[in-house]
Amino acid sequence: MSTSIPIRNPRTGQYDFNLVSNEVSDLPVLADELRANQTHWESIGLEGRLEVLNAWRKVYLESYDEILASLVADTGRLAESQKEMQRLSSSIDKLTIMAREVFQERAFHLRSMKSVEIRGSYHPFQVVGVISPWNFPLSSSLLDTIPALVAGCAAIVKPSEITPRFVKPLVKTIQRVPEMNAVLRYVQGDKAIGEALIAHADAVCFTGSVQTGQKVAEAAARAFIPAFLELGGKDPAIVTESAHLDAAAASLVAGATSNAGQVCVSIERIYVARPVMDKLVQSLVEKASAVKIAYPTPDDGALGPIILERQAHEINRHLEDALSKGAKIQCGGMVEQRDGGWYAPATVVTGVDHSMVLMTEETFGPIMPVMAYDTVEEAVALANDSSYGLSGAVFAGSADEAMAIARRIQVGAVSINSTGLGTAAIGEGDIHEKNSFKRSGLAGSRLGYDSITRFMRKKAYLVQH
Ligand code: NAD
Repeated sequence: MSTSIPIRNPRTGQYDFNLVSNEVSDLPVLADELRANQTHWESIGLEGRLEVLNAWRKVYLESYDEILASLVADTGRLAESQKEMQRLSSSIDKLTIMAREVFQERAFHLRSMKSVEIRGSYHPFQVVGVISPWNFPLSSSLLDTIPALVAGCAAIVKPSEITPRFVKPLVKTIQRVPEMNAVLRYVQGDKAIGEALIAHADAVCFTGSVQTGQKVAEAAARAFIPAFLELGGKDPAIVTESAHLDAAAASLVAGATSNAGQVCVSIERIYVARPVMDKLVQSLVEKASAVKIAYPTPDDGALGPIILERQAHEINRHLEDALSKGAKIQCGGMVEQRDGGWYAPATVVTGVDHSMVLMTEETFGPIMPVMAYDTVEEAVALANDSSYGLSGAVFAGSADEAMAIARRIQVGAVSINSTGLGTAAIGEGDIHEKNSFKRSGLAGSRLGYDSITRFMRKKAYLVQH
């Protein structure tokens, strides 16, 4: 008998959707089926696979409105859902260019041994399991999946059970392209299905919280498969005295409020040179106050609801803790309920320090705590005083000055005079390779060439002529 999970609507608070879960026993059967189909998928070569992916893209675009509507129902927001929808198309184009370079088989001669030739070939993992979160339900379910398919793997995806509505219309498009359906399947359910997927896949890609990531890594170790982990962040921004403050404030507000702060690479703490603290805060407040809550309809403003009710309480816990220790809210405030949905205003907080969870734990809301520093040394130490190492930003009068600071921050990606690398996570610039530092993740880059090659085991041949 299938399990049914009632799903909350983030705008109304009503449980208006039932997710019919897969059974744990489905997973070994499915993995065996896809493992068998993968042989053909690999044998048709890169161009054959790209042809199938392009055929699927066409069908997907024909169903654009239906998938988008379900994604909006899942998340309660519109503009970010549209960006998610568009991402599939642009990522296939970018991956096509990169994959053609990657797939040229490399052969070269060792200089010191002229009669010996070393060759190499690539061998994809057969079935990659992908487990994804709720903040970008569609694009994070595909971000690792498409490169894995391009590499020649089959993939089983388990998206978040918090936002499952988009899956049915998406799966319909996959089923309309039989060659795609042979190697790409979605399964639905909670952590039990995630655990079963890890037990039966040949590699696992996980995007989600550090806490769950740790469990996934342990389960992958038991299954003796590689785990590619993309986890949470507490991204710092440093603003020096020489920075263009108005431009910095505009970029910081965008980087902290995009998707209502429900972005792994959201700016979550700001360190500013003391002499320009007041000016920056003033500019942040002006700009943050102009970012409106998307209520009563998704296109009434930029800030959609906090999708997960538990997260709304978590944001408030961070704010309450900071306020109880002397912090001051300069604009915005607590997450509040409207018609059953939880909405967080763009909020600027001062008087903060690292004794507050607001400065140390992932908040996942549009909150900008600002703290003054006296020396660059201190700014770097504060930025690095974190168990996370996802990404960050530095604003300074010159790119060289900013770069000198950026090199010292222990994160995998730094935007200079911008927070653009953050928005690139769901947008355009996904050709840069980057690793997550510290507890923000593990293993190869999910962007750039490595997004493909990390799924391809390398085999070496020594040819004696
Ligand atoms: P989560 O860790 O609660 O859940 C993620 C997925 O893991 C869900 O599909 C869930 O069902 C599944 N899961 C839960 N327990 C499991 C288990 N024991 N074994 C296998 N699977 C299990 O994360 P979330 O709340 O959905 O997402 C928010 C988090 O994701 C934030 O921390 C955010 O920073 C992070 N995130 C990171 C990136 C990145 O690229 N680094 C991108 C988006 C989100």
